Amino acid sequence: MPLHEQIRSVIRDIPDFPKPGILFKDITPIFLQPDLCNDITDAFCKPLQEKKPDAIIGIESRGFLFGMLMSQKLRVPFVMVRKAGKLPYKTISQEYSLEYGTARIEMHEDALQKGWNVVIHDDLLATGGTAEAAAALVKKCGANVTSFTFVVELGFLNGKQRLLNHTNNIQCLIQY
Ligand code: AMP
Repeated sequence: MPLHEQIRSVIRDIPDFPKPGILFKDITPIFLQPDLCNDITDAFCKPLQEKKPDAIIGIESRGFLFGMLMSQKLRVPFVMVRKAGKLPYKTISQEYSLEYGTARIEMHEDALQKGWNVVIHDDLLATGGTAEAAAALVKKCGANVTSFTFVVELGFLNGKQRLLNHTNNIQCLIQY
């Protein structure tokens, strides 16, 4: 079975989670299958092998999973972007809009070096607001976003449009 079909066959739809009206794409069953995890990591890394990035950024919390596996496979540093107040050292932060209100994400101020080329990874691309805010953190450090990777894209929300300012290397393994 092609990789995208394998992924599609294990992702679970959870209606009205975490609130009414949201159809939550549950990727946790992927992690019950080590060979599938390995194949997904390989698929993300393949286009990055030739010109390796200087770091992989994973967005809290499901973005840590494949983000870390990718960084190990490519042998490059892994950097966490977390929700406000979770990182222990000095941070830089970026606010972004949610459907109702705002949220803030943070990164350690010394995590990236100026001029680095980095990949931003998360499990799922919805409106693109979170990934765009992570890209703004990268810019604040004087580094460049050279690609984005996601397991799932909710195409009907047009999140890709918001990320194209940074790069058109946007890899999504499956679309809904
Ligand atoms: P956005 O900023 O709108 O692109 O939202 C992306 C973030 O919210 C990711 O970290 C996702 O894990 C999470 N997310 C948004 N919508 C969903 C959904 N329908 N199912 C699972 N996770 C979601």
